[in-house]
Amino acid sequence: MNLFLFDIDGTLIQPRGVGQRAADSAFEYLHGIADIMDGIITCGQTDPLILKKMYQKAFKRENSAEESKKFYTVYLECLKAELEEEKSLEVLPGVLYLLEYLSERDDVLLALGTGNIEPGAWLKLKYAGLKDYFRLGGFGSDSEDRAKLLKIGLIKARMRFNDDRNFQKVFVVGDTPMDIINGKKIGAETIAVATGLFPKSQLYGHEPSHLLENLDNSYINDLI
Ligand SMILES: [Mg+2]
Repeated sequence: MNLFLFDIDGTLIQPRGVGQRAADSAFEYLHGIADIMDGIITCGQTDPLILKKMYQKAFKRENSAEESKKFYTVYLECLKAELEEEKSLEVLPGVLYLLEYLSERDDVLLALGTGNIEPGAWLKLKYAGLKDYFRLGGFGSDSEDRAKLLKIGLIKARMRFNDDRNFQKVFVVGDTPMDIINGKKIGAETIAVATGLFPKSQLYGHEPSHLLENLDNSYINDLI
């Protein structure tokens, strides 16, 4: 059995800033401060780390657990509203075909490895029409540390088989240096894809196992 851990934003879908806008609206609703996301880098980051940066920027302190809980409740409502407005999210080139192909193989388990909190991840995938390809994963709500959430995704995938077998191969698929760096930390083969903000030349510098322009399955076929 082989495991794929897919990042979402910039890898499976083009998020068009829905997450940032939802975070902006939620923060303004809770604290009356607008445009908090200006200048905060989100790509390759996890939701809890982004939230920390927002509180640091606004109040020069960390957010409490209670504040996080409140924020995420409002954020998810705002995200839903943004997605409703967007109607659907653009699925990136090659993704549908690849997921269809991989989901039909009996030696592949599809999972997520994303910095989105879990309900946010499922919402985005629902609006992109990709939700049914996945059942589990590692999420920003599992850990703010990308390597840890990938590891948790791997453990959940193992538990699904009710034994402690190792996967023949584990692939971490993502569009940022963070996906490559942290994929390596869990011993995965990394597939970097230049459909997000980072061009191939920049991803190349982080030495991914495989580097693709987009998720064209003809190449990935040969990896498993
Ligand atoms: Mg990404």
